[in-house]
Amino acid sequence: MLARTLSLPVAPPPSALCAATSPSGGGTCAGQGEVRGAKLILATTTPGEAEIFASLQGEGASVGRPSVFVRLSRCNLACQWCDTAYTWRFDGDNRPHRDNRAFARAANQIGLSAAEVAERIVGLGIPRLVVTGGEPLLQAPALAQMLALVRARGIAHVEVETNGTIAPPPALDALIDQYNVSPKLAHSGNPADLALIPARLAQWAADPRALFKFVIASRADLAEVAALAQTHGIAPDRLFVMPEGTDSATLRQRSAWLAPAALAAGWRFSDRLHIHLYGDTRGT
Ligand code: SF4
Repeated sequence: MLARTLSLPVAPPPSALCAATSPSGGGTCAGQGEVRGAKLILATTTPGEAEIFASLQGEGASVGRPSVFVRLSRCNLACQWCDTAYTWRFDGDNRPHRDNRAFARAANQIGLSAAEVAERIVGLGIPRLVVTGGEPLLQAPALAQMLALVRARGIAHVEVETNGTIAPPPALDALIDQYNVSPKLAHSGNPADLALIPARLAQWAADPRALFKFVIASRADLAEVAALAQTHGIAPDRLFVMPEGTDSATLRQRSAWLAPAALAAGWRFSDRLHIHLYGDTRGT
């Protein structure tokens, strides 16, 4: 849709790929086949088509910015309202979800090398990248390889969306400009000891690159946000509240009480622009 060509640097030779990938991803680059790097497991838009696309960032601090999105598959949580359950709720997974739908793994995952993913990102010609999921930090080594490659080819800003339960290893962390951390509240249905890990939250709160985004379904969720902000010292200007919803009518209905609540608390408010523009569809 927004694909266009930027005057990004040309692809580095294989030797440069090795130099870029080995320190962060552990690849040996000893032979030509290994130059392609570790595999990332991505979500799909349709079977066999990786979910890599150009769109406008729909949430949080970068809303409206043209960006390339890469959606990685797999998650370590299971939110009952998750709008990307096709990244984790595969056949045989009976954890609660409001749609109670399970997905065929083979049709909803695809493995691509870090180099192949990097090539597709650069080909879209936009110098901002958003890595989303699923939970992207589950694939840290291959993700670091991929980010090193796109950094070398003109991607100037990298955002990673995470549920905040996993610490990024240093080699990956060094390649990321912004974390959109979305800790999951009680209404997500996840056990608190899995979703809200105090040491992790404290680390994110201490990292100025981390912006917090809380998904809010009811007024009762706001007290939980306030308690987490106080416990972990999350500054109000780094804290977004965003309505839960996958259609415009629901988002508007919840925004009507959430926006004034954000104003009263001094927090930031985020809508979900992509839902209004495109609906709840893959690849947008
Ligand atoms: S953490 Fe995100 S991707 Fe994982 S289940 Fe929850 S909403 Fe879905």
